[in-house]
Amino acid sequence: MNDTTSDSHFDYDLFVIGSGPGGEGAAMQASKGGMRVAVAEKYTQIGGGCTHWGTIPSKALRFAITSTMKALRNPTFQELGVQVSPTLQQLRRGTQSIIGKQVTMRQSFYERNGVPVIQGTARFLDAHSISIDGDKPIRAKHFVIATGSRPFRPEGVDFSHPRVYDSDTILGMTHKPTTLSVYGAGVIGTEYASMFRNLGIKVNLINTREKLLEFLDDEIVDALAYHLRDQGVIIRHNETMKKVEATDDGVIVHLQSGKRVKTDAFLWANGRTGNTDNLGLENIPIEANNRGQLVVDEQFQTAIPHIYAVGDVIGFPSLASAAYTQGRAAAMHMLGRKDGNLRVNDIPTGIYTSPEISSVGKTERELTAACVPYEVGHSLFRSLARAQITGETTGMLKLLFHRDTLEILGVHCFGANASEIVHIGQAIMNQPAGHNTVEYFVETTFNYPTMAEAYRVAALNGMNRLF
Ligand SMILES: Cc1cc2nc3c(=O)[nH]c(=O)nc-3n(C[C@H](O)[C@H](O)[C@H](O)COP(=O)(O)OP(=O)(O)OC[C@H]3O[C@@H](n4cnc5c(N)ncnc54)[C@H](O)[C@@H]3O)c2cc1C
Repeated sequence: MNDTTSDSHFDYDLFVIGSGPGGEGAAMQASKGGMRVAVAEKYTQIGGGCTHWGTIPSKALRFAITSTMKALRNPTFQELGVQVSPTLQQLRRGTQSIIGKQVTMRQSFYERNGVPVIQGTARFLDAHSISIDGDKPIRAKHFVIATGSRPFRPEGVDFSHPRVYDSDTILGMTHKPTTLSVYGAGVIGTEYASMFRNLGIKVNLINTREKLLEFLDDEIVDALAYHLRDQGVIIRHNETMKKVEATDDGVIVHLQSGKRVKTDAFLWANGRTGNTDNLGLENIPIEANNRGQLVVDEQFQTAIPHIYAVGDVIGFPSLASAAYTQGRAAAMHMLGRKDGNLRVNDIPTGIYTSPEISSVGKTERELTAACVPYEVGHSLFRSLARAQITGETTGMLKLLFHRDTLEILGVHCFGANASEIVHIGQAIMNQPAGHNTVEYFVETTFNYPTMAEAYRVAALNGMNRLF
């Protein structure tokens, strides 16, 4: 009898479906570990939703908006009478070149590591074989499903209407609306609300929950809500959509509460669906949940142990950063490398609103619920010389630490470059016991003037509260 699981029966040791960060992380780690790897990608270019319609284009557009609007607010420009209103096409112009650079660079990773990328849609035929666009079966010993997610589209909302968008189509918006309603105040909705407000568009942010971004520390959430409102964003909490009526001159959102909101355009940003519907899951005993997501264990194995799933297709935290780490962790597990501790549960949050937000570790809410005796240290950006020089004085760093051991338990930051600043705290927080305390920041000399100084200020502020 043939042993159909012996390596010689397989075309590849690992076949990866999807070339976003999840797929790339798995493919690179496995090929460096000596596995024969191939990848299927249905889009015309590699890089995934991350590169083409998620992280990269949205962050590139954000940068174009903030830097242009900042320049236009510059007193010298105003004195010179420079009063222009850039179009979305102009602001997006740089994005394609950034995407191009990303694709070229990532393509070279596959080429250098001898990993073929096969263009087409992969579909399982059975638990060890797939077909790409109906071609002859390819057999592999392991699989990684890294097919990502797409915006969930509710019935009754006409996404073909030129005034109605989701997070994929908003990037192609050609006209600049005067007013915009964003339905869904998760990370994507809040980021776009903030971005469009910076562009001078009047924004209604409709939140189905009680607070914005409830997984964040309350003080940070309150600060975000305060600053968004201060910039002119209208936030409506605890609202649920009844229907969306798109007309020639605007979009009316009818809310269950009886309110109606009319704006020039509408962005749906409420939920995402895992890309599992065309994967041939009916041919293998794996089922997606009602959001199209796959359930995995802590090694990222599905119900079939040699089929792994990583990234957005497994749901939370749905971040490019996490997807890449998960892909690498899955490959390491296949390679039997238990030594590579990738800290898959130590995922920082970076939210590119204005002000930017970033955090890692526990929130005050979590520590209070767990009865951990913690103390808080704050540093307000407005008292830092660097922030005074750059004029970016809105913001705060907050350290949560154990009042007995002084171990850092959480780092929460909002303000310019928060997503960079948080990593200093993360690095110390992950040191072995005895080296992971706020004392490090009290004893360390920081460059002056820097934003990193916020750590010393916050640590001293917190230590002063101890008795
Ligand atoms: C607007 C927006 C902003 C974001 N901003 C950030 C951010 O600032 N920071 C951050 O960390 N994350 C951000 N994210 C999230 C991030 O983009 C995703 O978490 C990340 O792309 C997930 O990576 P992935 O590898 O799981 O999937 P993806 O990057 O979506 O890649 C999946 C790939 O699989 C391919 N595919 C699907 N099905 C098949 C098939 N059957 N056969 C072959 N190929 C297939 C798809 O074509 C796609 O290329 C943002 C997302 C959005 C929408």
